[in-house]
Amino acid sequence: MRSFTYERAANPQAAARAVAARPGAKFIAGGTNLLDLMKLEIETPTHLVDIQDAGLGSIEETTEGGLRIGAFVTNTALSAHPRIMRDYAVLTRAIQAGASGQLRNKATTAGNMLQRTRCPYFYDPNMPCNKRKPGSGCAAVGGFSRQLGVVGVSDKCIATYPGDMANAMTVLDAVVETIAPDGTTRAILASEFHRLWGDTPEIETALKPGELVTAVVLPKPVGGTHVYRKVRDRASYAFALVSVAAIIQPDGSGRVSFGGVAPRPWRTAKADDALPLGAKAVVQQAFAGATPRDDNRFKIPLAERTLAAVLADVRS
Ligand SMILES: Cc1cc2nc3c(=O)[nH]c(=O)nc-3n(C[C@H](O)[C@H](O)[C@H](O)COP(=O)(O)OP(=O)(O)OC[C@H]3O[C@@H](n4cnc5c(N)ncnc54)[C@H](O)[C@@H]3O)c2cc1C
Ligand code: SF4
Repeated sequence: MRSFTYERAANPQAAARAVAARPGAKFIAGGTNLLDLMKLEIETPTHLVDIQDAGLGSIEETTEGGLRIGAFVTNTALSAHPRIMRDYAVLTRAIQAGASGQLRNKATTAGNMLQRTRCPYFYDPNMPCNKRKPGSGCAAVGGFSRQLGVVGVSDKCIATYPGDMANAMTVLDAVVETIAPDGTTRAILASEFHRLWGDTPEIETALKPGELVTAVVLPKPVGGTHVYRKVRDRASYAFALVSVAAIIQPDGSGRVSFGGVAPRPWRTAKADDALPLGAKAVVQQAFAGATPRDDNRFKIPLAERTLAAVLADVRS
């Protein structure tokens, strides 16, 4: 690991200013993703700004009947919150399908949203990777792609966004709130927070340099049956090959987002509209224009079977 300096910020704007002031500075929250990447020298920050004292650790009711989740709320606290369990159960289920109890005790809301891809070539500094080193090429194109993306990817990068929580945030129409170093704030839809890789896979989110996530806001609950189903190579402690976050209403309408298939949780309006017609119709819409490879072509029928199982469970 390369040497770096460290400070704790007293409030959100101070944190954003501190990162903007030092080239190569980064925020650190639970550290469970960032430190792993620093040990491998994939991330080499010169300075870390710790946000644990920045006052971002609470969950509050909004005047609209929803919840504002502070960026530093841990995954454990969020998944066990009574209102989340009652009104936003897809979120509890998604969080609990991820990582391990020990990791979830440290992992935070913003840190989880901002975790980086698990593409195996990204983790191997001996391999070309446009995301790690822009312009160096992509070892996954023509390499082993079982875990990688089938839709929304580009010829520069076929990695997936790996997290579970953001998949539930997308289906809940959550909004990410941020603060910039000059104090201006923004609200970004969770479904637009992660970028499609395109020609610049090193730019992964809508965040600008120094911009800090302060909270994720859930709108008022929409009712329905909340389901999260994750299919993976091991029964636990593994990232999704395919995951389904869904909210299904009694008349069969609803919302669905797929994880493990694209650079961001994959939700489309046409796929939502097709829900009353069943899993085949949804997957035809969601994966229209998909560009699977031989190793990961199985993800499309797997997505259909996983959603079919979800819908059968909901009906029963
Ligand atoms: C073995 C293992 C298995 C795992 N399995 C799963 C899994 O199955 N599903 C899953 O979803 N996740 C899984 N994870 C990932 C885990 O959930 C993430 O490591 C964790 O959520 C990251 O949160 P953190 O608070 O530790 O972030 P950190 O590591 O502190 O930060 C991550 C990134 O976010 C940035 N950041 C943090 N907070 C902010 C903020 N407020 N504003 C702007 N930028 C910020 C940091 O600069 C950094 O770039 C696994 C991790 C491990 C190590
Ligand atoms: S798929 Fe993306 S992350 Fe993986 S090697 Fe290619 S450029 Fe890097």
